[in-house]
Amino acid sequence: MTEDNRVRIAELSADKKALLVRRLQAKRPEEATGPDHYDVVIMGGGVSGLTLALHLRRSRPDTRVLVVERMSHPVPETTHKVGESTVEIAAHYLRDILGLGEHLATRQIRKFGLRMFFSAHGNTDIASRVELGSSEFPTHATYQLDRGRLENELGRRCEQEGIELVTGSVVQQVDLTPDQPYHHLRVQTGGTDRDVHARWVVDATGRNHVLQRKLELHREVGHAANAAWFRVGHPIDISGWTDDADWHGRITEGRRELSTNHLMGPGYWVWLIRLASGSISIGIVADARTHRFDGFNTLDRALNWLAEHEPQCFAEVSRHRDKVQDFRVMKDYSYSCDKVFDGRDRWCLTGEAGVFLDPLYSPGLDLIAISNGLVVDLVSRSLGGEDVTAAAAVHDALFRRITDMWLAIYENQYSLMGNARVMSSKVIWDTAFYWGVFGLLFFQDRFRTVVASPTVAADLTRLTGISNRVQAFFREWAAVDDRDLDGRFVDLYSPLDFMVQLHNGLADELSDAQFAERFSANVRLFEQLAGQLITTVIDTHQDRYDDDRAVAQIQAWQRDPLIGELIATYRRERHRRPTSDGWMVLGTTADSRQRQIEEVSYA
Ligand SMILES: Cc1cc2nc3c(=O)[nH]c(=O)nc-3n(C[C@H](O)[C@H](O)[C@H](O)COP(=O)(O)OP(=O)(O)OC[C@H]3O[C@@H](n4cnc5c(N)ncnc54)[C@H](O)[C@@H]3O)c2cc1C
Repeated sequence: MTEDNRVRIAELSADKKALLVRRLQAKRPEEATGPDHYDVVIMGGGVSGLTLALHLRRSRPDTRVLVVERMSHPVPETTHKVGESTVEIAAHYLRDILGLGEHLATRQIRKFGLRMFFSAHGNTDIASRVELGSSEFPTHATYQLDRGRLENELGRRCEQEGIELVTGSVVQQVDLTPDQPYHHLRVQTGGTDRDVHARWVVDATGRNHVLQRKLELHREVGHAANAAWFRVGHPIDISGWTDDADWHGRITEGRRELSTNHLMGPGYWVWLIRLASGSISIGIVADARTHRFDGFNTLDRALNWLAEHEPQCFAEVSRHRDKVQDFRVMKDYSYSCDKVFDGRDRWCLTGEAGVFLDPLYSPGLDLIAISNGLVVDLVSRSLGGEDVTAAAAVHDALFRRITDMWLAIYENQYSLMGNARVMSSKVIWDTAFYWGVFGLLFFQDRFRTVVASPTVAADLTRLTGISNRVQAFFREWAAVDDRDLDGRFVDLYSPLDFMVQLHNGLADELSDAQFAERFSANVRLFEQLAGQLITTVIDTHQDRYDDDRAVAQIQAWQRDPLIGELIATYRRERHRRPTSDGWMVLGTTADSRQRQIEEVSYA
């Protein structure tokens, strides 16, 4: 270095010096010094770590990746882990981005969508419960996964693609040294220690939370719920629970037992998920405020709990009690994180090592797909010589904003699960929102660039406001309407024009301009749907003059400026672009509703 340069560097501020060091490190030639130096070390080879490794190699084939996994492979196929149901984002990720289409089609089960049965008449007759689900397969396939089978397949593929996967090994120590070109990790296999070095470290250790604990990033959330689950080595078939011909006749395609079936009640839901290995996974998920964890935290207690709340399910499980394969619990499963990506210090968290919200709607693998996409973007750019400090801050803020928005779908909403009327509309709204916002962003590969487009970023802000207001509206509505609903079928897909349109539109080929236009159109659609829902609910309840609570609530809605805007959009758009109204099961005829809508005035 010349004396001149030495002087100029000495005069730089501390920040500028640090920036220069990072730039020089990024530009440093591949000076990797042997087999213990990697571009990326992924701690944890569960589904998030293994999919990330494959994704990285597919995006940047010469990336040197080491995955360290505590468990030895092959892992048990059926009873390995929880997280067996996928929805569209995860299915697209595994099938189309990672190339697992054949494995999913031949070694796992094609899922027949989500299906819910709401509590009625003591839950002894499935046919008398309100059913919410689809009568036919939506276009984009989703899957039920034997988790061990998936992780074994992912492990095999990692090795085939030149990723070093060491199983039966534990990361014992991580020394983050951002001012050096490589971080240091100590890995133990059997009784032997090995030192490895990584430019980037990704924590995918799930609830072991290696980096979250080390860096004190854990953030509590206001959602407290618990879960218990077990697998039964017998394919319990929910279709065999009744002979009712009308009930059977509702389904035109597919088999109910291949849905993710949910038995819904106040503050809880029970899942039934059929697995390709022939077993069934059964889980209880309940709000901590309504159902004590020690009421179902052992197998005997869980069965007693089912006998009390879900007697028909209990009777079926009891018949196969001798085939129960495992029993697991998770207390207070929901949490968040103060930071998931750091571009300056070259670390990331993905999967449950970062954030876990709630299993309802199966978003776990979706969040993995979204965060892995952002990690791959950062790491590839950084290894290509770019300083990604700012990009990581943007990705980090986006990911945490999305998870906060997603959390509002669950927080304080478990009380609605016993209300078939409100919950039916909520599930349809939540699914539409998932397809039209998160799904569209993911299928169109826009998460990486959301912030670069001012219109899309502004639309996302508007959508956050609408979503949060509608979630609060569901609670307010449930508080003034807890009437029972007869055992009808609510088809959440084919009869609803906007559901088909949002679902089918996921994979459309869109240019940048077309995408921005579609995203804005979806914002208007959600404004219109919110306005349609609120108008219809107000209309249904506005003659309850003798009910002070209902009157006060309607007046509060009528004074709310955001609700006023949503209703105005609905009124403006409904003739030009009408939307199906079968997603609001209110028991009024369309005609009387229409007539009364005209009479409602909004302050
Ligand atoms: C009740 C419940 C139901 C759920 N249902 C669904 C669902 O239906 N669909 C869905 O998509 N998601 C679901 N999820 C979420 C899903 O289970 C998780 O998103 C997913 O399993 C997280 O994967 P992961 O790879 O981040 O963590 P894990 O699968 O836990 O993998 C972490 C890995 O890290 C390894 N490890 C830990 N520490 C170390 C160490 N120091 N060194 C080396 N290795 C280490 C572990 O052995 C493990 O294999 C559910 C979650 C819960 C709680």
